[in-house]
Amino acid sequence: PDAGLAPGMASSPVLLLTSLSADDEAAWLHALRSAMPDEVVETDPDRPAVEIAIVANPPPGGLRGLPALKWVHSLWAGVDGLLKDPTVPDVPVLRLVDPTMAQAMAETVAAAVLGLHREFDVYGAQQRAGLWSARPFRFARDRAVTILGLGEMGRASAALLKAVGFDVRGWSRSGATIEGVRTFAGADGFLQAVRGAEILVNLLPLTPETEGVLCAKTFEALAGGACVVNFGRGGHVAESDLVDALNSGRLRHAVLDVFRTEPPPAGHPFWSHPGVTILPHVAAPTDMSSASAVVAVAVATYRMTGVAPEGLDRRRGY
Ligand code: NDP
Repeated sequence: PDAGLAPGMASSPVLLLTSLSADDEAAWLHALRSAMPDEVVETDPDRPAVEIAIVANPPPGGLRGLPALKWVHSLWAGVDGLLKDPTVPDVPVLRLVDPTMAQAMAETVAAAVLGLHREFDVYGAQQRAGLWSARPFRFARDRAVTILGLGEMGRASAALLKAVGFDVRGWSRSGATIEGVRTFAGADGFLQAVRGAEILVNLLPLTPETEGVLCAKTFEALAGGACVVNFGRGGHVAESDLVDALNSGRLRHAVLDVFRTEPPPAGHPFWSHPGVTILPHVAAPTDMSSASAVVAVAVATYRMTGVAPEGLDRRRGY
């Protein structure tokens, strides 16, 4: 090909496929075009020519009818929704791995864990009851915190909690090495990781194996009056188990950022439960410009090499 003109560039527009609001879609289009000024990024391109699709909540079946499609890049870090669609063609699928997101997640995890550690939820309840009463002070080093999932999000969060001084444990499929953090692997390591923890932070991807991991059996293994932070996906929570555990005092408080239906329907018990803090899926917001820069690198590499990037393991589900 001519120097400066990447192979297939002119004839291969990049498809942006979303079911977001018109405003959000337009903002993504702008961010992606700014990050890839040499590419033609369109929401409605000549479909037979499309080799690359960039997706954010694509409508089910939306990736059908793209005979030249070589790979798909999601704009989200979690791809459980995308992989549920059986019509997604058998091409590499990439999820968003953006270091700025891991930093954001670590900050939100630290905020939630420190708030629970210093019992802001308890003081909030006391305030509403007009009560002035100091709780016994404890140092972070005396508080056991377990993180489920030691990927991009979990590792950054574990490192920050460790830096604050918490007694941090972590759990993942294969185990991981994080300085100062005791890590456990696989089904056999699960109980060791969670037993006696006072704060449990979930940062797993949602897969058939991890669905409902935050259930009565898990809560039973934690210290009495423990707290749960769910920043993974709503499907990780067995909702009635959580409400029962909060009602019985088995758990003290839950900070939830993700829900089976977002937002949870009016009247859902989480809305009014005094033991629940609801965040509107803001733990690690996607930054359009840094996400677009990440996607742009993948597109540029593909244009240079003609080789589709390696996708995630679809069988494993993350
Ligand atoms: P990664 O794929 O980098 O990490 C996933 C981690 O979970 C890995 O440590 C993996 O183990 C572990 N894991 C997966 N399945 C199992 C299993 N069956 N048993 C034990 N461990 C398992 O993902 P990220 O860290 O980037 O993101 C994790 C999730 O966080 C996303 O899928 C998404 O749902 C959620 N998220 C939420 C956001 C929010 O704003 N609330 C924002 C971004 C992400 P191993 O290391 O061995 O592979």
